[in-house]
Amino acid sequence: MTIQWFPGHMAKARRQVTEKLKLIDIVFELVDARIPMSSRNPMIDEIVSSKPRIVLLNKADKADDAITKQWLEFFKEKGIPALAIDAQTGTGLKQITALSKVLLKEKFDKMASKGIKPRAIRALIIGIPNVGKSTLINRLAKKNITKTGDRPGVTTAQQWVKVGQELELLDTPGILWPKFEDQLVGFKLATTGAIKDAILNLQEVTVFALNFLKEHYPKRLMGRFHLDELPDEVVPLFDEIGKKRGCIMPGGYIDYDKTSELVLREIRADKLGRLSFETPKQFIEQ
Ligand code: GDP
Repeated sequence: MTIQWFPGHMAKARRQVTEKLKLIDIVFELVDARIPMSSRNPMIDEIVSSKPRIVLLNKADKADDAITKQWLEFFKEKGIPALAIDAQTGTGLKQITALSKVLLKEKFDKMASKGIKPRAIRALIIGIPNVGKSTLINRLAKKNITKTGDRPGVTTAQQWVKVGQELELLDTPGILWPKFEDQLVGFKLATTGAIKDAILNLQEVTVFALNFLKEHYPKRLMGRFHLDELPDEVVPLFDEIGKKRGCIMPGGYIDYDKTSELVLREIRADKLGRLSFETPKQFIEQ
């Protein structure tokens, strides 16, 4: 899904999320485990400040395990509850309800002491496009969608998704914008496939990706493209990969667009293994 974010759309998205927040107890902030900072909305802390929140590092199956562990440690140190999950297969999803119950214990105990009948925890999933919000809702729902929209006084029909007995989700997620004014963030989002190729210059994204791989995953890069050594500069590396894969134009020139498409496609399809494109250390240094 490609969404063009203009100031009007951003204001509307924010308004919609603020409205949904009134209905729920807790927010599940979905991010991409490969780029947990770059795949966040830049204003998320401010927007959801009124509610408890769990950060869900989704697509953990595609991320570098050792770095995901560093991120979980980073969030723990900051006192931010976080879990690594894979919404596609369902790995890690059981912990979501358990952790939500811990975080909301005080609120629900208070409600009980006032004689309020126990009810399920109500949650909202929030995230930028393509982080896996719909996949997670569908996975959790298992077809348990219940209509609760026709209560008197409810203007917009809100549907709730039951997740076991103890949790309910709003069936439509909160969609917020990424920090796209930061070029490095844009490159990371494009490399992981979160934003459509047409928006950014494909060759520039590939230059970022190749430089990153050269520095952080040199062996995987050499292995995948059968390179005996890694050139210092990125252009000869581009040339070498183009040549090896037959991305040649008439006259023998390297077809950089074709090479870029190929490199990005293979990264996104995990052909170079599980990769993470940012670490807590880099984030702290920045
Ligand atoms: P949304 O825009 O946030 O609702 O994102 P989607 O749910 O449409 O997911 C975007 C893409 O990511 C889809 O191709 C999903 O199949 C894929 N996806 C979502 N979650 C996971 C996951 O945990 N692991 C993997 N490998 N792919 C995922």
